[in-house]
Amino acid sequence: MRGGLLALTLTALVATPAEAGTSSIDGGRIRVVYEAPKKAAYREIHDTMRQRRVLERVGAIVGLVRLPTRLTYRLKECAGELNAWYAPENRSITICYELIDSIVRAAPEKRSPAGVTRHEAIRGPVFQILLHESGHALFDLLGIPILGREEDAADQVASLILLHLSPADARMVVAGSAYFFATTAKGEPVDKGAFSDEHGLSWQRFYNLACLAYGSDKRRYRAVLTKQYLPKERAESCEEEYGHVAFAFAKLIGPHLRARLKDGERLRRAFRSALI
Ligand SMILES: [Zn+2]
Repeated sequence: MRGGLLALTLTALVATPAEAGTSSIDGGRIRVVYEAPKKAAYREIHDTMRQRRVLERVGAIVGLVRLPTRLTYRLKECAGELNAWYAPENRSITICYELIDSIVRAAPEKRSPAGVTRHEAIRGPVFQILLHESGHALFDLLGIPILGREEDAADQVASLILLHLSPADARMVVAGSAYFFATTAKGEPVDKGAFSDEHGLSWQRFYNLACLAYGSDKRRYRAVLTKQYLPKERAESCEEEYGHVAFAFAKLIGPHLRARLKDGERLRRAFRSALI
C-alpha cells in the first residue's frame, strides 16, 4: 500500500460538508454529527469540538481499520445524562454534552497539584472516552471475541491506541485521563453497586492505564513510578500486561488494519497524523 497512508491521512483531513453539523470522512465510512445544543451553556463545547474537529480526528484513527459498515460519531444533548455509549443497532457512538460539561467543570483552573494542565484535563478524557467507545464499536463491527470484561477490553484498546499517538498527544491523553479517573474516584462509593457494575472502579481504571503506559515505555513514563502513581508491586508486571494487550490487538484487530502492524513505525506515523 505505497502512498496508501498518505492518501488516507489526506482523506481524513478533508471533510465533506453535508447537512449542518454533519460530515463524512474515509469515503463515507465514518460519519460525524455535531448536533446543535438547545442549552446555551453547551454552545462553547459545540463550537470548540467542531472547530477542532475532535470527532473527525478520532474517526480518522478508527478509519485506519477497514470497517464493514458505516460508523457514526455523534455529539448530542442527552436530557441531563452524563454518558457516552456505542449502540450496535445503529452502529453509532454518542457522547453527551452533559458528560463533556462535567469534564470541563472538574478540570483545574490552570494546573492540578500533580501538574496536569486544564487543557490536558479536558482534552485527555474526551479522547479516551471516544477511543473507549470506538473499542466497543470495533468489537461489534469486526466480530472480535472478548475474554474478560468488555469494559476492561474497551479501555485496553483505547490505551493501546492512545499510547501510539505522538509522544506529546499520548502524554496529554494519559495525564488528562488519569486526572479524570482520580477525580471521579473521589466521589465514587465503594459498595455493592460499584462492585457489581460492569465497569471497573475508577481507581482500577486509573491504575490499569498507568500500568499500560509504564509497560509500553518505562523510560518515557518513568514518572509513573518515581512519583508513586503506581505501586512497585504492580509495576513489575506492567511490561507483560502491555505485551498481552499488544499481542491481542495485533492478532484480533491487526488483520483488519490498512497499515500492516508489523511495520510499527508506519502505524505510529498514521496514528500521529490522524490526531494532529
Ligand atoms: Zn464502555
